[in-house]
Amino acid sequence: MNLIQNTILNSLPANKKKTPSGWISFNAPCCIHNGETQDKKKRGGIMAGADGTLSYHCFNCGYKASYVLGRKLTQKMRTFMGYIGIADDTIKKLAIEAMRHEEGDIKYEKKKFVSFHKKQMPKNTHSLDVWLEKYVAKDLTAPQYNKIDGLLNYLKVRGIDPTWYDFMYSPDMWVARWLMEKICDINGLAVSLDPKPVTGDWNGAGCHTNFSTKGMREEGGDDVIHKAIKKLKPLHQGHIDVYGSGNEKRLTGEHETCPITEFRWGVSDRGASVRVPWQVDKDGKGYLEDRRPSANCDPYLVAWRLIKTICGDD
Ligand SMILES: [Zn+2]
Repeated sequence: MNLIQNTILNSLPANKKKTPSGWISFNAPCCIHNGETQDKKKRGGIMAGADGTLSYHCFNCGYKASYVLGRKLTQKMRTFMGYIGIADDTIKKLAIEAMRHEEGDIKYEKKKFVSFHKKQMPKNTHSLDVWLEKYVAKDLTAPQYNKIDGLLNYLKVRGIDPTWYDFMYSPDMWVARWLMEKICDINGLAVSLDPKPVTGDWNGAGCHTNFSTKGMREEGGDDVIHKAIKKLKPLHQGHIDVYGSGNEKRLTGEHETCPITEFRWGVSDRGASVRVPWQVDKDGKGYLEDRRPSANCDPYLVAWRLIKTICGDD
């Protein structure tokens, strides 16, 4: 926390909401200055980084401003500070404070920005801006909301401002993996999707797949679930064939797995190939969890195989 961050955070409108990742939303003060009507839907959002950075985003009129420690206080940020009622002379003092950090304080290393090659993105990929707008408006399903919040939190704890890069997000697992690789790359880390990245007496990396059909989720769904499990059993090998490579290193019968050569199901059984969660058994409806796919699986193949077996004629 620094003086600039502190002053801005303390001057935000009183009526605001904070999400688990620290995203603060409030009625945007910028819009009326930019030819839009007064925001009443808390479409202004601010995120404070642990490293002293701060970024503001308005999803109504599109106003954006950020402050990066070790850089000048931009005109856009100074204007925003005026919008939230910070006095002119305070803004001037803080602008000088920012310059002081910029010049003298070697403790604050200047940010280095990495550039990336453009890549073709899968369908349903949107820039983080688009997701953030839905996120601020709470216009997301609970799992999507949690994912965006987790993503913001992930960026925040690593001192990355969501506005620095054109972050893309998709519910698609391929993009999640791509994003993870990029973020790790910035931090000098590498990612392995191997089912058993390090051999030894510990769990491997799986891609437990929750599956349900409409019938499974309705009254009497447990019958439908048990019928599905009956269909899965004789086709075990056909599933293993597309559940990821090197999976035999993980599915050994130890570390919460069932041996790759066996098919077993159970309620609340983490040593089974297919688990019926305790809650599902209790409710008599819900979903099944296929614990066999490995971390490096192709989610489309896994989904295809499950649909083919359970919903098809196989
Ligand atoms: Zn605005």
